[in-house]
Amino acid sequence: MESPQRHLTPEQLCAAMLKRNDGQSISSFKKAIYDLADLGPLARVVVSDRKNRAITFYELADRPVHRHLYCTRCAGLAEVFDATLEQTIRQHFLTHGLMPAKADLALPGLCADCQVALAAEGRPAAEGVGPSAPARFNG
Ligand SMILES: [Zn+2]
Ligand SMILES: [Zn+2]
Repeated sequence: MESPQRHLTPEQLCAAMLKRNDGQSISSFKKAIYDLADLGPLARVVVSDRKNRAITFYELADRPVHRHLYCTRCAGLAEVFDATLEQTIRQHFLTHGLMPAKADLALPGLCADCQVALAAEGRPAAEGVGPSAPARFNG
């Protein structure tokens, strides 16, 4: 279904490209990635990690527009293809006179594997971090 290397940070993209090309510097690759994201061949996926910092992944915009679910524990990205949902979102953009950008804000959560792993560690899988602890995604 989904290749694990599909969503890459600029650093990972640069590393992958450097494996195939020599003589080009990382910074010129990075500049090229930003240009490509602006022009369209690359799409951005922004996720916020457990410390609420934003990480931007890049992917080839070779698939229908889709959304992303992000596991904050293992950093796994799952892709959601929902034509009805996309149609609805697009309609909202058009209603407000906005052109949708080739970017998605991933929705954070905990994947099935990580729920099992946390349960095995004896910690509650969901939000039950304890009444005194702040919410998982705001820390
Ligand atoms: Zn996970
Ligand atoms: Zn994607």
